[in-house]
Amino acid sequence: MEKGVWVIESRCKACTLCVEVCPSGSLAMRSDPKSTLGAFAVVINADSCIGCGECELSCPDFAICVADRKEFKFAKLTDASKAAAAAIKQNGCYEIKEKL
Ligand code: SF4
Ligand code: SF4
Repeated sequence: MEKGVWVIESRCKACTLCVEVCPSGSLAMRSDPKSTLGAFAVVINADSCIGCGECELSCPDFAICVADRKEFKFAKLTDASKAAAAAIKQNGCYEIKEKL
């Protein structure tokens, strides 16, 4: 399925910056023992992405890409997505297994 945002996991250094700046709860860190750094960023809810590009701008490792707004129809920011973003940040930027 076409997505507006994606992570190149092999480049991710698990700094959490992209999750910290995402207003829509689209991104979270996922623990992975196979990863050298123990975790990497994942797109957990592509449908809530508003295409702001903050994650791409803040990633020091060019590990995250956002589609061009002219070519992809992004969502609008909702109270639910803002609440999801806040909950993820409260969880140390890690994904929350329960449904948000
Ligand atoms: S483009 Fe904006 S809303 Fe979408 S994942 Fe990146 S920071 Fe979040
Ligand atoms: S900002 Fe880049 S390196 Fe840092 S967690 Fe996000 S994708 Fe990984």
